[in-house]
Amino acid sequence: MTNIRLSKSVVGIEEKNAVMQVLDEGFLGMGREVQLFENELQAFLKTRNEVICVNTGTSALHLALQAIGIGAGDEVLVPNITYVASFQAITATGATPVLVDVNLDTVFIDLEDAESRITKNTKAIMPVHYASDSQKMDDVHAFAKLHNLRVVEDAAHSFGSYRSGSLVGSECDVLCFSFDGIKNITAGEGGAIVTGDRKIIEYVRDARLLGVEKDTEARYQGIRSWDFDVKEQGWRYHMSNVMAAIGRAQLKKIEAFGSHRKQCAEHYLELMSGISNIEPLNLSYKENVPHIFPVKVLSNNRDELISYLREQKIECGVHYKPGSQLERYKSESHYPNSELLYKQLLTLPLHADLSRKEQDYVFAAIKKFNIGKL
Ligand SMILES: *Cc1c(COP(=O)(O)O)cnc(C)c1O
Repeated sequence: MTNIRLSKSVVGIEEKNAVMQVLDEGFLGMGREVQLFENELQAFLKTRNEVICVNTGTSALHLALQAIGIGAGDEVLVPNITYVASFQAITATGATPVLVDVNLDTVFIDLEDAESRITKNTKAIMPVHYASDSQKMDDVHAFAKLHNLRVVEDAAHSFGSYRSGSLVGSECDVLCFSFDGIKNITAGEGGAIVTGDRKIIEYVRDARLLGVEKDTEARYQGIRSWDFDVKEQGWRYHMSNVMAAIGRAQLKKIEAFGSHRKQCAEHYLELMSGISNIEPLNLSYKENVPHIFPVKVLSNNRDELISYLREQKIECGVHYKPGSQLERYKSESHYPNSELLYKQLLTLPLHADLSRKEQDYVFAAIKKFNIGKL
């Protein structure tokens, strides 16, 4: 058995041909291909919201926050357990991320803890669809309404997932996807902002192109703007045609990728059912397209298990080290659930190429370790 990958990009001849075509056409930067990808994403989501593509999920979050007016002096509520991108996107605006503890069963932001951390400077909340789950999002919107906050959803994990029968992104206020190499679909890096808010749409379309006004429209027609104006700080955050070509080819595979990831999750749940010290999270695996498959190891030797699995050529990980334990985001305050979860969480391999045989091998190894040790 070769190394079992924790996650990986799954691309084929379709992506290669699409990139070759862009290279042959000779327009590599942002142009028609990006417009087509945005239109196809919107059609896929069956939404009236617009989709605006950028170069990473992190820049999508940064621009979304910037667009709703977040800046220096503002505070944004964010779960303590998330990828560091969520925190950095907040600080990129000059605002302060206020770390919030998470729910023990779902690793979703804990709204009771969030409430206790609200101050007069709190302007927004950024819930994370951890392991692709956003089933409690209605509660976040109710909470935000009550406290007069904007919501920016970090949906980096959950492209292709459903919530209450609707695709994630079809009915949202402001939501960001990531298309980095290992997410549910990739554009070889990439991200998108999904919103129906005209002010945000207009702001983001310019801001991703250094703030050059109406440059998006020009580029989609293959024109460069020479006589333009700039009124706001902008960034070089646009998506390129090369990336969009990969993204378009991947989007055609989302049904296949999604059902494969779901089947893998189901099989893991079956394999796990006989093992008392390993517990799944309480997520909606029927509706989610799981980007990662974290479990809880209910013993004090999770790290030994990780080392053992690595010796067996099984890559695994921990998603994520709490922000409160990172130098830049350190906090005096206590996060009992995050601290416990950081000792228990173990992410098992999951990607669109993972075979049933590999999953069986993972659990055979866990069982072998389990005997007498767990
Ligand atoms: C991947 C990820 C991001 C950022 O996406 P990039 O495309 O890598 O910049 C943000 N939040 C979470 C939770 C992620 O996993």
